[in-house]
Amino acid sequence: MKKTYGLLVFSIMLNACGADRQASPVPAPESGPQPAAAARNPVLPSQDTLPPQPTTGDTEVVKPDRPKGKPVKPSAPTPKPAAAEKSETSKSAPAIPLTARAGENGFVDIQALDATIRLDIRYATANNFTSAKIYDCARCLLRLEAAAALQKAHRALKRQGLGLKMFDCYRPRPYQQRLWDKVPNPDYVTPPEKGSMHSRGAAVDLTIVDAQGNELDMGTPYDFFGREAHYDYTRLPGKVLANRRLLRRTMEAAGFQGIRTEWWHFSFKGKNYPLSDFVWECD
Ligand SMILES: [Zn+2]
Repeated sequence: MKKTYGLLVFSIMLNACGADRQASPVPAPESGPQPAAAARNPVLPSQDTLPPQPTTGDTEVVKPDRPKGKPVKPSAPTPKPAAAEKSETSKSAPAIPLTARAGENGFVDIQALDATIRLDIRYATANNFTSAKIYDCARCLLRLEAAAALQKAHRALKRQGLGLKMFDCYRPRPYQQRLWDKVPNPDYVTPPEKGSMHSRGAAVDLTIVDAQGNELDMGTPYDFFGREAHYDYTRLPGKVLANRRLLRRTMEAAGFQGIRTEWWHFSFKGKNYPLSDFVWECD
């Protein structure tokens, strides 16, 4: 029973994410029981996807006129060939003083940009729904403009003695492929060629921490897919709701948009990016 529930939720979430569709309804989690065990499992290879972005449609996925991105690390399970991905060059880079600027295929390493932004990249550990390490190492890369927006949000929190902690940032398509290889079922995992906002380098999963690095109470752990994780679920302590509001307002003020079903996910609204195969180097 528990298993069935987990599978159901898992299926729903993955579909939602991967589809890169708008306003995707994610009804089921609300109706099922909320076993604590479900907190960790039924999760998210791509739950990150349903960006409430107006521009994000399936049509955006393939843009044949973009230059092809070069996969830096072919070691990962192969990405989809054709239609695919192209890494974006930082042509319209804004004037932000980044040492990491345009460093890696137009991506910016968040910690090179601001070392005070904390990382807890779950896919670089076994602490994720697959119980397997998906990323070769933990890094948080984002497209230039999204990185600048994230730093803006972090600075706003710093003025309040708080800061951001990242759970996931850019997710290279080869890594999405690894997830797919683990669960090669479109009902459960988004096909890599479809990708998610994370694979475009424009989405983040994150939370707020205090000056000591302790996470503020958001009511559920990251990767919890029961309705308690929904932003519009209000039967939670006032402090939790206030923390979620702070996160959402801060991110929105910086140019991101949240989604209803995951308090931790935000997509950058300022620009569209193609999916990318670029995989960062590990030391
Ligand atoms: Zn996400």
